[in-house]
Amino acid sequence: SASKLPKVGVTIFTVMSQLAAEHGAINLGQGFPDFSVPGPLVDALQRAMLEGRNQYAPMAGIPELRQAIAGKIADCYGCEVDPDRQITVTSGGSEAIFDVVHAVVTAGDEVVMLDPCYDCYEPAVLLAGGVPVHVSLDPASFAVDWAAVESAITSRTRLLFINTPHNPSGAILESEDMQRLRDLLAAHPRLLILSDEVYEHMVFDARQHESVLRDPVLAARSFAVSSFGKTYHCTGWKLGYCVAPAELTAEFRKVHQYNTFCSFTPAQYAVAEMIRRHPEHHRELPAFYQAKRDRFREQLLGTRLKPLPVPGGYFQLVDYSAVSDLDDTAFCRWLTTEHKVAAIPLSPFYAQAPQGQRLARLCFAKNSDTLDTAIERLKRL
Ligand code: PMP
Ligand code: GLN
Repeated sequence: SASKLPKVGVTIFTVMSQLAAEHGAINLGQGFPDFSVPGPLVDALQRAMLEGRNQYAPMAGIPELRQAIAGKIADCYGCEVDPDRQITVTSGGSEAIFDVVHAVVTAGDEVVMLDPCYDCYEPAVLLAGGVPVHVSLDPASFAVDWAAVESAITSRTRLLFINTPHNPSGAILESEDMQRLRDLLAAHPRLLILSDEVYEHMVFDARQHESVLRDPVLAARSFAVSSFGKTYHCTGWKLGYCVAPAELTAEFRKVHQYNTFCSFTPAQYAVAEMIRRHPEHHRELPAFYQAKRDRFREQLLGTRLKPLPVPGGYFQLVDYSAVSDLDDTAFCRWLTTEHKVAAIPLSPFYAQAPQGQRLARLCFAKNSDTLDTAIERLKRL
């Protein structure tokens, strides 16, 4: 085929956002907040630009931001990471994921991903010449089936993707999962972990986020990826970072330096200042989103959509089988065009979606007014 990615079309997020715009629907599809970025962060961004911080940043990110990230990691996970040799600032979590894959996957290497999973994982692996190996999460709970993961991992496996809190389900990994991960690493000396933790500050009900960085054994074999777009309500800024051991970071930076070289300089100064001056922002984020989750779930009880549990992240899965027998893509299109609420179907997150699954993803990172209007429309289903 002439295409390097013959099976790839336009992402479901773009498709549904366009459909929402065409039909004047409330967009609970693509994940992004509709409320403002914190004032001090916008002020700091403006100041950085006015002060002339507009040229290339150092390739790895400005030292002030890497130090602030190291401080946040120490604060949240009780571990020391070296900002000079272990942290790289990237253009969003997406760039970090792409760079990890291209840094460690060579042609023929197998890469295990757990379906449903975020849509950028597989194309990155294919472009690197890797072989994607899909293992299903438990279809009811979205928990990891570790026995299935173990049987999928071979001497050819280079990388395992994990994602907690999980997009699209909101499931989180528990300490027992991290033990299974340690066992896997001990059994497979070539295996590395890509831990997608972009929703790290959205874990609810007083549970803790199981970062690979908490555990030196896991951290020694992992790339941990995060995104300021999620933490600071600024998905359009495309700023994130990757933490890895020094030797892996050196390989990671070889890709990063030729992919983008560096990321948007003014935002690096702004976020560094925000982390330093307003650590309460990330500390209070779980409570902020938990209140939105609770309110939205309560409202959903007045509809015929059945909300699934949401331990983390900012997405609510709903079972729509009481409303419609359409497949998930058709249902989400119908919901958007006929009821003016856009949602994301789950099947695009799978290599092979389970037959008959009737689930849609709704984003609750929205103002109460937005969610109230959406609920009024969903009540009519
Ligand atoms: N991983 C997951 C699970 C995500 O949901 C997202 C954002 N949609 C990303 C990575 C990419 O993050 P960013 O927008 O910072 O590139
Ligand atoms: N991460 C966002 C989501 O899952 C989408 C980002 C994108 O549009 N690529 O909705």
